Amino acid sequence: MDDNCIFCEIIAGEMAVEKIYEDDEVMAFNDINPQAPAHFLVIPKHHLAGPSEITSADEPLVGKVIHTATHLAKKLGLSNGFRMVINNGEDGGQTVYHFHVHVMGGRRMTWPPG
Ligand code: 5GP
Ligand code: ZN
Repeated sequence: MDDNCIFCEIIAGEMAVEKIYEDDEVMAFNDINPQAPAHFLVIPKHHLAGPSEITSADEPLVGKVIHTATHLAKKLGLSNGFRMVINNGEDGGQTVYHFHVHVMGGRRMTWPPG
């Protein structure tokens, strides 16, 4: 738990979200500012600032976050495809420094994203 992290607050139940899934290691909830008809985030419960901070010890957890994201996309009916995004650092557009995977779908996503 990082005291200054809003996603750690969400995990601790201190901030309300539209929760989609939770187990001992990961949590998924709808993004507060959706960029597509379906837009949810999957996060590890263990605080990890972002992709740049991943160590070999985190590999199973990061794999589980991605597997959970694809599993939930399927469960939510995104059978025609979806986009997964992981922003890293300032130039990557990261605004919350707790590792998270965005899953967006329900419309045709454009490329390049800009
Ligand atoms: P980033 O830009 O760091 O990759 O994405 C952070 C995402 O978290 C943004 O899409 C933003 O809308 C979402 N977000 C930030 N604060 C909250 C919050 O309090 N609740 C929810 N549900 N999403 C949030
Ligand atoms: Zn955190």
